[in-house]
Amino acid sequence: MASLGNGLLQMCSRIRYYVAQARGAAIGENKAYDLLVAGGGNAALCAALTAREAGASVLVLEHAPPALRGGNSRHTRNLRVMHEKPTATLTGSYTEAEYWADLLGVTKGKTDERLARVVIRGTSGILPWMEARGVRFQPSLHGTLSLSRTNAFFLGGGKALLNAYYDVAKRMGIDVAYCTEVRSLALEDGRVREVEIESAGSKETLRPKAVVVSSGGFQANIEWLREYWGDAADNFVVRGTPYAQGRVLRNLLDQGVAPVGDPTQFHAIAVDARAPKFDGGIVTRLDCVPFGIVVDHEAKRFYDEGEDLWPKRYAAWGRLLAQRPQQIAYAIMDNKAEKLFMPSVFPAVVAESVAGLAKALGLDPGALETTVREFNQAVRRGVFDSGALDGCRTEGIDPPKTHWARRIDEPPFLGYPLRPGITFTYLGVKVDENARVLLEDGQPCGNLFAAGEIMAGNILGQGYVAGTGMAIGTVFGRIAGREAAKIARH
Ligand SMILES: Cc1cc2nc3c(=O)[nH]c(=O)nc-3n(C[C@H](O)[C@H](O)[C@H](O)COP(=O)(O)OP(=O)(O)OC[C@H]3O[C@@H](n4cnc5c(N)ncnc54)[C@H](O)[C@@H]3O)c2cc1C
Repeated sequence: MASLGNGLLQMCSRIRYYVAQARGAAIGENKAYDLLVAGGGNAALCAALTAREAGASVLVLEHAPPALRGGNSRHTRNLRVMHEKPTATLTGSYTEAEYWADLLGVTKGKTDERLARVVIRGTSGILPWMEARGVRFQPSLHGTLSLSRTNAFFLGGGKALLNAYYDVAKRMGIDVAYCTEVRSLALEDGRVREVEIESAGSKETLRPKAVVVSSGGFQANIEWLREYWGDAADNFVVRGTPYAQGRVLRNLLDQGVAPVGDPTQFHAIAVDARAPKFDGGIVTRLDCVPFGIVVDHEAKRFYDEGEDLWPKRYAAWGRLLAQRPQQIAYAIMDNKAEKLFMPSVFPAVVAESVAGLAKALGLDPGALETTVREFNQAVRRGVFDSGALDGCRTEGIDPPKTHWARRIDEPPFLGYPLRPGITFTYLGVKVDENARVLLEDGQPCGNLFAAGEIMAGNILGQGYVAGTGMAIGTVFGRIAGREAAKIARH
């Protein structure tokens, strides 16, 4: 964060000044807000809008400046939606039973069924609520992980969604303090007594009636990640916001809020190793894994690349890479695979021979040739279908490739260097179905609510199925806003 630099600090100072001027008060001067919302992403805005619509006065505290507002949410493209029949942009139906089965499958039972069903049911009928607040949808594009039935895509992506929500927030009189970090919440007798914030170097204390924490995970805090991952954490690429430092999360856990989730669990995928350390977003993702093989730094395969359909398995690859020596691997394929996936923003490394590709990637040519030859010999012919669990598999090789196995023999050969790209961490605060934050003794805090990544671990104990991050944030954001407004009214 030090690298944000003086220029940004000055910009923040100016923005804070304008925000304060626009409201006719310094942030701390008006301490009469009913609700403070920590964070400025999807969960925060859903909470803020809902609470304001229910009559509460709301101040959103966003650590980022306006251009970088919206955390990880600004990188998103879709959310997973339960629906009984086709909508304008979704095909077929996606029932509660199927949604739940998908979630159960990826989490392997590490999920709170009650809260998971709150999310699933909450997504039913959510699209009109979002549309009424300016969000527009589009059918999924060809090649987007076969999600046309299950996931509603935002026209213009997460940034357009957030811009729409911020516009409505402004019209409704919700105040937003940018470049303002929530430093700590003082909990006393199960209630938030006050909130300490810092903006452009000066600290202030606010005393709202209720607080919603929606400040994301701690995935951008490399020091914290090092507690569990050691030196490997230095090689992680953080796909989203650098502001996900986990300050609020740690502060609450230190004060006896009940933790949820395994601190080593996170959503992480394979990204192009050439991606920037932070905020590379969606364009650094590599979807090519099922269509070739993946080898480690010794040019050896280490996992079944064709285990399941991509939406259900893509999130396993970040963790697999994080556990490899040096956290580096290489996707290797041939000309047949080139058009089957959305490429990353970086071009593939291309060569006319497997040995040439190995050299270009910095791998041992002989070792890669051996791996490819053994793989090719193990491939059993079947009818290839990139969109379904097909019959193309290997035999007599360890690890096997159970679907989409085709010989890698048609030049040019393509390669991509891969690194673990961490999306968000699963350690969070425990909540109940009303988004109330629970203390270690099981009692709910009186005026503290949580939504989004900071509580996603209640539902995602491990694994991930595409579009649940935004589903959790939207549903629990609305619940948190509704419940916080009730406190404000009474
Ligand atoms: C590249 C990428 C693509 C993704 N695509 C999808 C997708 O298509 N569908 C999907 O469902 N999920 C997707 N996700 C996951 C999704 O982004 C998250 O699950 C979701 O956006 C979480 O929303 P949130 O509001 O909880 O957190 P965020 O959107 O990250 O918001 C957290 C906010 O808190 C602020 N903040 C942090 N600490 C403080 C503090 N101390 N004080 C004040 N503010 C603070 C941050 O600046 C930020 O504004 C994607 C994530 C990434 C990185």
